Formats: sequence, C-alpha cells, structure tokens
Amino acid sequence: MSDKTIPYKIYLEENEMPRQWYNVRADMKNKPAPLLNPKTHQPMKAEELEAVFCKELVKQELDDTTAYIDIPEEIRNFYKMYRPSPLVRAYCLEEKLKTPAKIYYKFEGNNTSGSHKLNSAIAQAYYAKQQGLKGVTTETGAGQWGTALSMACSYFGLDCKVYMVKVSYEQKPFRREVMRTYGASVTPSPSETTEVGKRILQAHPGTTGSLGCAISEAVETATSSEGYRYVLGSVLNQVLLHQSIIGLETKTALDKYGITPDIIIGCAGGGSNLGGLISPFMGEKLRGEKDYHFIAVEPASCPSLTRGTYAYDFCDTGMVCPLSKMYTLGSGFIPSANHAGGLRYHGMSSVLSQLYDDGLMEARSVIQTDVFEAAEQFARVEGILPAPESSHAIRVAIDEAMKCKETGEEKTIVFGLTGTGYFDMLAYEKFHNGEMSDYVPTDEDLKQGFDGLPKIG
Ligand SMILES: *Cc1c(COP(=O)(O)O)cnc(C)c1O
Repeated sequence: MSDKTIPYKIYLEENEMPRQWYNVRADMKNKPAPLLNPKTHQPMKAEELEAVFCKELVKQELDDTTAYIDIPEEIRNFYKMYRPSPLVRAYCLEEKLKTPAKIYYKFEGNNTSGSHKLNSAIAQAYYAKQQGLKGVTTETGAGQWGTALSMACSYFGLDCKVYMVKVSYEQKPFRREVMRTYGASVTPSPSETTEVGKRILQAHPGTTGSLGCAISEAVETATSSEGYRYVLGSVLNQVLLHQSIIGLETKTALDKYGITPDIIIGCAGGGSNLGGLISPFMGEKLRGEKDYHFIAVEPASCPSLTRGTYAYDFCDTGMVCPLSKMYTLGSGFIPSANHAGGLRYHGMSSVLSQLYDDGLMEARSVIQTDVFEAAEQFARVEGILPAPESSHAIRVAIDEAMKCKETGEEKTIVFGLTGTGYFDMLAYEKFHNGEMSDYVPTDEDLKQGFDGLPKIG
C-alpha cells in the first residue's frame, strides 16, 4: 500500500503557472504537412487563411519554428479563474484495482463548459477582439466547444454564432441553453441559413447532420458576414498550441515531486487535448532527452488513427475548408447513430498524425460499452462523473494498470480527464438499460469514406 507522500491533488501556485505556450512543431524533424487550397492544391498563404481565421491565429497556425509563444496577460488572467487544473493522484482507483501502478489524471472539467475547450476558446476570442472583429462563427457537436466559445465571447463582448449538429441540438437541449445563457445564437445544422446547408439538405433530406457539415455552414457564414471570422475548437495547430497549457502544468506539477511518467494517455477526437497534454513530454522525446510511451485512444466506431489512411482530405463535408494531411476516414464518413461517446470527427490533427506516422505514439481503439464500464468504475471510486470522451482514456489507463498488476511493474501512468459527463446522461441511460451497442464499421463501410478522398497530384 502506498504511503501517500504525494498529495491527492497537486496544485500549482499562481506564480508557477505557464507564461508561454509550447509549440511542439518547433522540435519536430518532420513537420506536419501544410494546409492546401482546396481549388489550386497549393499551400495556403497567410492572406488566404486570413479571410477565414483571425490574423494572429493564422500566424500561430503557420509557425513551425517558434518553440515558446507568450500567453497574453488578459488570457493568463482568465486562466487564473479556473486554472491551474488539478493533477490528481488516483489513490482510490489504484486501491480498487489493487495495482502497483501509480495513476494520475489531469482534470479539465472544473469550469462551466465542463471541458478543456475553454483553454483555446478564450485565446481565440481574445485575438478576435484584438483584431476589432464583431464576432465569430463556429460549429459544435455535443456542445462543449460551443459552450466554451460562448463563455469566452461573452467575456470579451463578441457576438457568437454556433452551428450545432442537429441530432445534438435536439438531444442536448441543456447545452444549447447554456450557450444561449452566455449570449450565443445557436442554429441546428444543416440549416436553411446557408447555401451549403441548403445543398446538403437537398442531397440528404432528413439528415441529422455531422460536424463536417456544421463546419461548412459556419465557414460560409463567417466569410459572407462583415467583421466575422471562423474559429475551430480542435484539429488545428493553433488549438494544440493553446492546449499545451495542460501539458505544461502537468509537467511542472510532476517535476515538483520528481515524478517521471512512463505512460501518457489521452482520448483523441480531433487531437487537441491529447496534443496539448503530451506536447512538452513529446518535445523531450523529440530532442532525445527522455522517452515516454504515448497512447491515443479513439472509439472503434470512428477509428481515424487505427484504421484511417494518411492523406490529404477535406476538413468539412461541404469541401470549403483547406485540405489537411491527416489520418482520416474521409470527410463523407459519418459514425453510426448508435455511437454515443463523442470523438466523432473523421480526421485527426496533422501534428498528431505526423507524430503517429513517425512511430512516436501508439493508437488504440476501444468499443463504447467497455468505455462506459470504465466510466462507471471510475465515477464510483474517484467521485467525478466523467465525460464519455474522457472515459476512453480512463479505459486504457485501467487496462495498463491491470497489466502492471500481472507483471508487478510499478509504472507511472498519467491520463487526461478532459471533462464531466452531466450532459451525457442519455448515453449513460442507454448503457444502464443495456441498450448500448458496439457498432464497429466494416472495411466496406470505411471504403466508401476513402473513395471520397480528393486526388492530390
Ligand atoms: C471535445 C472533447 C474531446 C475531444 O476533442 P480533442 O480535440 O480530441 O481533445 C474530449 N473530451 C471532451 C470532454 C471534449 O469536450
């Protein structure tokens, strides 16, 4: 039994909090591939990107060389309201599992948006405000990103237009109302408010929507409205940069107690929390200073890293966004309606895709009933009701801890607990009622998505 010399929660003092974000691209030998113009297939120039995104964010997006980027004081002050997030030693889980492994989790759910997404939302809203914009547009799936962005926009007095995937809009009315509480306008997608929405509705009447489709609508609205830009809550390089706050705090907290993790685990949707958590550790690995075992965990129903292909693809269904080279299932891929656990995006951050392709990171897929089983096990011993997305990481953390039990190894495992699951009780209900199924796409299903990949010469 552990002597508990490490506190249950490791906090940082305000003066220990990071003053700069870390840009892992600076230490990558093989840089992530550039975004391409969807029409000309040439690398996107800053001017082209600035028609869609805020200027300073474009600079961050294209910067592959600056390792540390200052966090503006206004953002650091906002961070102080809900950060540092605790790094928790999961003593109770360890005891329950009777594992010799030492398990830590970085908990990002202690803010109203309920997830890590606020870390990037506040940064993106800040730069939009600096640029003198009226507002921003975005898409949201389950609603965490939309919630985070509406909080950030109301803080800086910006208008916020959210396109919410229709199925979530209908099934998650409470998230929608949180966004409206913070002053955002929320439109179910696909909608009749955009040309691309109308086109998609005509081609697929009755569709319940997808993230890729909502992105197209949000981009169209931003580029056709004076004083608006589009912002995105995951996948992009800039988002991983902002999320490096997670990894930097984690590393500072571990260093205070001389703890070196063996395994670092995160769930992977578009890759932002995982990228942010592992960035400073990956930097050490890339520079040859230390070695870590990184594991990305994704749903078996949307397996972009484990079964996807590494290719240029559209980021959205309407094919209006730049092309990104990434592990992808094809922009036409829509996960099974039975899939309740989030992480539904068809592609993956190009930074993580490159790191994975270079063999620097492992990826694992897990089925959703196993994920909810782990979620429940965790909730019962650690108290926190985890988001289904986060529970993918819990699943693999428990699996690794159980391996240690067999081998007797005292490995140190760190995982990202990205958020809380209070708005996901319909999914929990399905699980409790035994109505949750584990649809895993067939090779035939996946082939359809791959067939729609753009041909890049
Ligand atoms: C959005 C979200 C994720 C997945 O997004 P990434 O960009 O892959 O981090 C994971 N967990 C929670 C709670 C989320 O809201």
